[in-house]
Amino acid sequence: MLIFQSVMAKFSDLRVGVLALQGDFERHQYQLVSLGADVTLVRLPEDLRRLDGLIIPGGESTTMDNLIDRFHLRQPLYEFGRVKPVWGTCAGMIMLAKAITDNQAAVQPLGLMDIDIVRTGYGRQVFSFEETIKARLNDQETELKATFIRAPIITRMGENVKPLGYYNDTPVLVAERNLLASSFHTELDDDTTLLKFFLTKFF
Ligand code: GLN
Repeated sequence: MLIFQSVMAKFSDLRVGVLALQGDFERHQYQLVSLGADVTLVRLPEDLRRLDGLIIPGGESTTMDNLIDRFHLRQPLYEFGRVKPVWGTCAGMIMLAKAITDNQAAVQPLGLMDIDIVRTGYGRQVFSFEETIKARLNDQETELKATFIRAPIITRMGENVKPLGYYNDTPVLVAERNLLASSFHTELDDDTTLLKFFLTKFF
């Protein structure tokens, strides 16, 4: 009980947003609340104003891309991501990328992180799968339960991008300055290891 209270207290002064236009934002909200963070579901530019950091969830990047423009969030999200912590999971990683290789759907990524990706890179062989991957967090090897759902594959990483986790020799968890991106989801079960890493190291 005491340990639980101290974890809650640790994160209670963090104001964290989850982009809530579409996709898997409720599970992120649930995990953030379980750690005691102050959570805002972001739908309008003014929602970003009071926040310390943001999660862009998985979902469908074509729809997210569309709604970002419809809700006038493109420039505000770009400006936020230049300076504040942002973690993009799956479609969120697609939105953070510089370029999308093989971009038939003409999704316009925000271009905040120096990576190129292929959308739905694993999709043709396997629709979705769960794997335990090894990540290097806080200079320690850590196992993460990772769910890949039509996940993007990183095809290029700029020199300032640090790979933190691999699946089959391909980086699937990367960091650059204030930004974190994962090809996979970790919010679907109760493991908050990566979320705690984000809240501790990026804020
Ligand atoms: N491949 C999907 C897309 O292009 C992303 C899937 C996901 O977020 N789980 O948006």
